[in-house]
Amino acid sequence: MTPHAKGEPPTGRPQPPVRTLEDKAHLVTGSGFWQAGLPDGPQVILTDGPHGLRKQGAESDHLGAARSVPATCFPPAAALGSSFDTALAERVGQALGTEAAAQDVAVLLGPGMNIKRSPLCGRNFEYFSEDPQHTAALAGAMVRGIQSTGTSACLKHFAANNQEYDRMRVSAEVDERTLREIYLRAFEDVVRFTQPEWVMSSYNKINGVYASENHWLLTEVLRDEWGFEGLVVSDWYAVADRVEALKAGLDLEMPTTGDRSPDRVIAAVANGELDEEILNRCAARLENYLSSRPTGRGFQFGELQQIEHHQLAKEAALKSVVLLKNEDHALPLEASASVAVIGEFARSPRYQGAGSSRVNPTVVDPALAHIEEICTGLVSFAPGFTTSAEPDGPELLAEAVETAAQADAVVVFLGLPEAAESEGYDREHLNLPERQLRVLQAVREVHSRVVVVLSAGGVVTLPFYADVAAILDGGLLGQAGGSATADLLFGKQSHSGRLTETIPHRLEDVPSYLHFPGDQGRVSYGEGLYVGYRGFDAQKTDVLLPFGHGLSYTSFDYTSLEVAETDTGVEVKVQVTNTGPRQGREVVQVYVGKPDSSVARAPQELKGFASVELEPGETTTAVVDVRRQELAYWNIARHGWVIESGTYVVKVGASSRDIRVQRQLWIEGENAIGPLTGESTLGDALAHPAVGDDVHNNLMVSANNKHSSSLFSAEGLIRMMSSFPLNRLPLFPKSGMTDDDVESIIARTQPSGTPNPQPKTQ
Ligand code: BGC
Repeated sequence: MTPHAKGEPPTGRPQPPVRTLEDKAHLVTGSGFWQAGLPDGPQVILTDGPHGLRKQGAESDHLGAARSVPATCFPPAAALGSSFDTALAERVGQALGTEAAAQDVAVLLGPGMNIKRSPLCGRNFEYFSEDPQHTAALAGAMVRGIQSTGTSACLKHFAANNQEYDRMRVSAEVDERTLREIYLRAFEDVVRFTQPEWVMSSYNKINGVYASENHWLLTEVLRDEWGFEGLVVSDWYAVADRVEALKAGLDLEMPTTGDRSPDRVIAAVANGELDEEILNRCAARLENYLSSRPTGRGFQFGELQQIEHHQLAKEAALKSVVLLKNEDHALPLEASASVAVIGEFARSPRYQGAGSSRVNPTVVDPALAHIEEICTGLVSFAPGFTTSAEPDGPELLAEAVETAAQADAVVVFLGLPEAAESEGYDREHLNLPERQLRVLQAVREVHSRVVVVLSAGGVVTLPFYADVAAILDGGLLGQAGGSATADLLFGKQSHSGRLTETIPHRLEDVPSYLHFPGDQGRVSYGEGLYVGYRGFDAQKTDVLLPFGHGLSYTSFDYTSLEVAETDTGVEVKVQVTNTGPRQGREVVQVYVGKPDSSVARAPQELKGFASVELEPGETTTAVVDVRRQELAYWNIARHGWVIESGTYVVKVGASSRDIRVQRQLWIEGENAIGPLTGESTLGDALAHPAVGDDVHNNLMVSANNKHSSSLFSAEGLIRMMSSFPLNRLPLFPKSGMTDDDVESIIARTQPSGTPNPQPKTQ
């Protein structure tokens, strides 16, 4: 067997032995719940992921039910994404990689990179964003960090796994362009530019074919087109047919199935259903990986590292909190104020989601304890509500009101109970629990300046938005979220997180609303490209808070935008000044639109971002390099990316709906309109640069001369005919076109030397 995947076995290691059919058949399915490899050869451990290590002992499961070793619980992707900080994501990745290495884990099952198509997806807390560019940037950084430690990263869930409902069977019915531009885009970027060592195929089908059995996805796109050199593992129990999955290019099925899958593979080779060469390829890739794993990576996870990683988790949480509103500087709170802290979450924080990503944290910081530490005034606490399924007694509400009435400042911690969002099922609505809203309402009646802190892994609607003084969106912040929140409330740090998901007024406004989560085994991605802010913007829907929104304790001005084409794309430079009273970090966001595009496009798309840290009064230049490829759209006729020639609008601002400066830029791209065929329409011909004017002029003459008595103007007639395929135009007398005319039009659009396609109808 010739190993041909990347990486040479370390010197001194024996070369992989040539394997029997039985060995190979066993190799391509896991040897345990978390292990791969043959009993007489090297074995590796693969473990969740993505925001902390979930290494389990004897009792193993893929839904987070059994305990795992203590590990740092970093902010899940939904929160970390809000930092818009790739250097931070890389450091978190590095810490994750070292914890994995210290536990002898070879593969960390993350990052999760699915796009948040609907705020209802139960697992949105594990994903970065509703935007592919943002997802690619954060996930790529995380992969770099993880792999810098010798631990392998594993992108998941490839692909179009955007809901939990029916996840192991549902077919995501999604058109080619949407798939490429939205759902595959981030995976493509990270594969091409960061080379993750593993990719996990998802549970669902894509246009009727299981991701794990999808040759187009796992081989043609992932390997042949994008140049992936690593290994593909299935999601746990995702493989319906091991033989079909092998043919598709799925190297490793997880977890073990005992002899079941190996026996099926052996029989398929024996009866000619499976070409052994296909098995050889997957087995060779695995064998090569297994035998080239570095041993003893020298990482410890002792007390010192635990403290360091907790600090990093706190830094990440600090940068991830989004200040949604801060009326009349209600925040920061005075340390000497008397503060009423209301809400069970202040004492028992929600800091991660349920399911396979659940980490057993080394320590958890509750916000209440840290508020008590910072605040020199009186801190009083009332839980206000429980998260139990049973109704709360009236005394909880009464106590909350009494506590709030006596304090200078009131901070109410609201959020989703753990059972409301989880792997395995979706949410049914975007509302916070009624009982929590009742407590907030009652507290507001006795206090005029209420601050709300939200803990939820997905978007919640905020019916109280106008009635409270300030709102901090904490997301799910990981184990250090409570101390980070306390620091922010009292202004020890300024907020700098930004929303990575639009907050709508109502669920019904969400572009995917009518198409989610599907039924009868299929879900139509009917909103197409118009996911998240792309859809809200295109429909001109008013939203409560837009993608990219986030305030801070200071303010920033944007001036002197410069955009210039470079060899690699577009360089965007803008001067940013801190015009407020405090040090702070601004996330500078670059959106690009192509208003006169020849294809349907969202009004603007995020193409890059940068963060700048500035002292009061300080100015700096933020630079964002937009790769040329980022300007492309997916052309379905060519099955490829096309960068259109024309004017692009580069917009820079503090959110998708707070654009401060913008400029136009001419980009010389390609003429996406290819040669015409008999199937092309008259409209295509009219738009074609080589023949459009001639066709128009000749038709005008013909329409004016021959049909001047027509009820329609000549232009009207041409417009009505524009959907006629060229090869059927001569059949219609009013066109004035002959077969020869059509043939000549088509011929003039062919690249020289190419034979003309037959224009006539069959
Ligand atoms: C999840 C994966 C996870 C795997 C192993 C599955 O249920 O979808 O994300 O890595 O279990 O726990």
